[in-house]
Amino acid sequence: MKKTVSTLLAIFLLLFLSASGYTEQFAKQHTEQKNGKSIALTLDDAPRSANGYFDGKTRSEKLISMLQQKNVPQVAFFAVTSRLDQEGSERLMRYANAGHIIANHTHTHPDFNQLSLAQYQSDFLTAHEQLKNYPNFRPWFRFPFLREGNTLEKRDGMRKLLKDMAYSNAYITQNNYDWYLESLFQHAVKNHATIDMQALRDLYVDIMMQGIRYYDEMAIQHLQRSPKHILLLHEMDITALFLGDLIDQLRAEGWTIITPEEALMDPIASYKSSALFKFNPGRIGEIAKNSGQSKGLWHTSLEESYLKQQFNDRVIKTVKELSTAQ
Ligand SMILES: [Zn+2]
Repeated sequence: MKKTVSTLLAIFLLLFLSASGYTEQFAKQHTEQKNGKSIALTLDDAPRSANGYFDGKTRSEKLISMLQQKNVPQVAFFAVTSRLDQEGSERLMRYANAGHIIANHTHTHPDFNQLSLAQYQSDFLTAHEQLKNYPNFRPWFRFPFLREGNTLEKRDGMRKLLKDMAYSNAYITQNNYDWYLESLFQHAVKNHATIDMQALRDLYVDIMMQGIRYYDEMAIQHLQRSPKHILLLHEMDITALFLGDLIDQLRAEGWTIITPEEALMDPIASYKSSALFKFNPGRIGEIAKNSGQSKGLWHTSLEESYLKQQFNDRVIKTVKELSTAQ
């Protein structure tokens, strides 16, 4: 009799647990551990111009509340300080006060291929002075266009300056052309095209996931493991609109969102490319190139013609012709 009671109790307990979604939750956690893939989110060019779909204030408020809603406590914003007018400064401060990291992305967003070492260093230092007192400032540098110097003198000169100032090179492992999707979107908004927002959301998530899977596979091929990834994003309207959906998709595929600080603890953070890059595909591409891979350093989802075609086919529903776009 006693045995029957405990068996019944066990059955009830099991029914209760599965009804409460506990087992599902457990299975999901288990998959995440097994998958072991992790990624940090970083947004460049803050405060980026905002005069299309959202104004700057709306964009930043949407970004902050979306990250909160999705339980992502910390991302990093890489600031371009020449854009810190009153509205821009307020926007950057809003991110800092929400607990996000503020870091250096130069004063004027120059192309290192076009500047001397001295000019570039001075641009970097101007930004440092303007940012160093922000709450949550970190001495992290994101090279604009990921260009780290096209001569040995420039590359090693910046490496030395970063070291002397106790800065980290905040590389990315996950490259994409999200900024190009944004420009197609803003152009369509300006031209009053009929935009299918659901389709735009699907396209954004689809394009970003294509790149993420691709660079993770490339990393595994060369490192025999999935490193802690750092995703390149930009402080833009499509990010404010759809980053939440991308986060959902990442989690559905077993990824864990980590802080940028945690990502920078991966051993690849101290990797120093021996090859010089005029155009840099990101750290996974650097590692691949140094171990002999010469093709496919930029994925198809980073091709403007591909993105434009996808955008026109999938997102613009009634106005087919966007021949004047970019
Ligand atoms: Zn940038």
